[in-house]
Amino acid sequence: MTAPSPTTTPRSGGCLCGLVTFTVAGEPDFPHACSCLHCQRLSGGPVMSWVSFPLAGLIWSGGGEPSWYYTWPDSRRGFCPACGSQVCALDDGADSIAVTLSALGNSPDLVPVTQSFRETAVPWLRQVPDTSRPTDPTAPATPHDRRPMSLSDSTDHHDIAHQDSPRTALPGTAR
Ligand SMILES: [Zn+2]
Ligand SMILES: [Zn+2]
Repeated sequence: MTAPSPTTTPRSGGCLCGLVTFTVAGEPDFPHACSCLHCQRLSGGPVMSWVSFPLAGLIWSGGGEPSWYYTWPDSRRGFCPACGSQVCALDDGADSIAVTLSALGNSPDLVPVTQSFRETAVPWLRQVPDTSRPTDPTAPATPHDRRPMSLSDSTDHHDIAHQDSPRTALPGTAR
């Protein structure tokens, strides 16, 4: 018998009230924080934190799927209709799903490697240092912060790549 890899062991998550629960399996991809305006408004906080898993490994284990709200024409957020917890983000046609680290209980092995949309981050909270590879052209876009090219009425800064430079790190504050 071979023990399952700790990175591929199914993980359980859910909302605050327990109505929406899920398991995800497979390799976690690109854990990161995001301070885009959608994440801030939806969460009621300055950042949300995300990690992606293969969509094929997702199981809604409780009362079915969450409620959905489209934040872009082809990208939606999933949330609990009872308690309002934000649990996931999903692009139409995608083969992966982003779930919030908070829905997963902030598993200690999932540490954000960068922060997306630093330009809209609040000035009073330290940002996540960029430990990803900013020049890697294969770095994945994630469902919740990808940028539709056709949204002409956007007034924010979603055309800025989420792997921007770690220019906002303050001297002496690197962790
Ligand atoms: Zn709930
Ligand atoms: Zn975001």
